[in-house]
Amino acid sequence: MNSLAKQIAVLGSTGSIGVSALEVIKASGGRLRASVLSAHSRFAQLVEQAQAHRPQYVIASDKAATRFDWSGLPAGTELLVGAEALDEIVSRDCVDIVLAAIVGSAGLQSTWSALESKKTVALANKETLVSAGPMMTRLAHKFGALILPVDSEHSAIFQALQAGQLAEVQRLVLTASGGPFRNLPLEELKTVTVSEALEHPIWNMGPKITVDSATMMNKALEIIEARWLFGVEADQISVVIHPQSIVHSLVEFIDGSVVAQMSPPDMRLPIQYALNYPDRTPGIAKRLDWSQAFALEFEPPDPERFPALQLGYECARAGGTSGAVLSAANEAAVGAFLGGELHFTEIVPACRSILDAHNFNANPTLNQLVEIDRWAREEISNWVCI
Ligand code: NDP
Ligand code: MG
Repeated sequence: MNSLAKQIAVLGSTGSIGVSALEVIKASGGRLRASVLSAHSRFAQLVEQAQAHRPQYVIASDKAATRFDWSGLPAGTELLVGAEALDEIVSRDCVDIVLAAIVGSAGLQSTWSALESKKTVALANKETLVSAGPMMTRLAHKFGALILPVDSEHSAIFQALQAGQLAEVQRLVLTASGGPFRNLPLEELKTVTVSEALEHPIWNMGPKITVDSATMMNKALEIIEARWLFGVEADQISVVIHPQSIVHSLVEFIDGSVVAQMSPPDMRLPIQYALNYPDRTPGIAKRLDWSQAFALEFEPPDPERFPALQLGYECARAGGTSGAVLSAANEAAVGAFLGGELHFTEIVPACRSILDAHNFNANPTLNQLVEIDRWAREEISNWVCI
């Protein structure tokens, strides 16, 4: 083992981001090492990952892990069971960087603990910033901890911002592929099936974010994520549909110059960039082929087709508890849709209604956010209809 290797806690290693991260780590030539892996239900996959990466710890966050046969774990890898282990492990010396790749609000507490422990967080879990953006960025500032974006749009903006000063930014432009239903007649949206929503034209991701991409809620969450991560006003953020997903986002400066980051759609690049920051290293992500002609298209999103975007702007302006309510209501609504209990076209109206009904608090504590998250999830049960 290279003693100078950066030690990475890959929280959510069995997911789409987690698996890509392990590919990046494996190909890093010893610069990076997975010292901690975690899974919630896919324990057999976690054991296979442990055999390949020989981490110091594996964490099985669901208690069902106590009934699993862990005899396949390699010698030298210790098993920890329960969600509390995620929060505890991030402060240990065997962790330099926490890759926050757990899906949904389950990822919030461990990200919080990592920042309190002054650890660099490579943040894929956008729900954390959507729910608790001001608190998270304040915490990072207080402890001098870095939050490095892994979400491809925010990684692109983070890179493009290096071309100027924050005070020189006119606007951030988030690109969106438009998802699988960009051109579907509006009347056909109501009958969209789960398998149709899970067929993203460009990206191969976990089920929750894939549905979020189809409703454009993913972009709504990314507006809120960008607002807190980069400290810009909501009205300085624009969204543009870019079906090729090669330009991952852009920064327009006050002089009219626009700086973009481009690369083929492949999450291994923003993951690699965050894990090696501030260095750039050769890697395994796909590269653009300049010997072939290709075109890049941009068009404004249709607000009637994608009403979720409006919710994103409202929550980015309002702050307080609104992001947590939107994130939790959406997570529960997507769960209900995937479970066959809610129509695709009801996901966004359900979120709108719960957001409008909620008891807004401009300066919530973490406990109040946890409480309102629980309330918003329960409210979705009033919408379950099929
Ligand atoms: P996946 O569903 O593929 O993976 C989720 C991971 O989280 C799995 O390792 C899963 O464990 C674990 N997990 C699920 N529930 C819990 C829980 N309650 N407690 C602890 N761990 C849990 O998701 P993705 O990899 O697609 O997304 C991860 C995060 O990254 C999301 O926040 C998403 O928005 C964000 N993101 C993803 C992108 C992508 O390309 N996939 C792009 C940009 C951002 P197990 O599998 O064992 O159940
Ligand atoms: Mg994204």
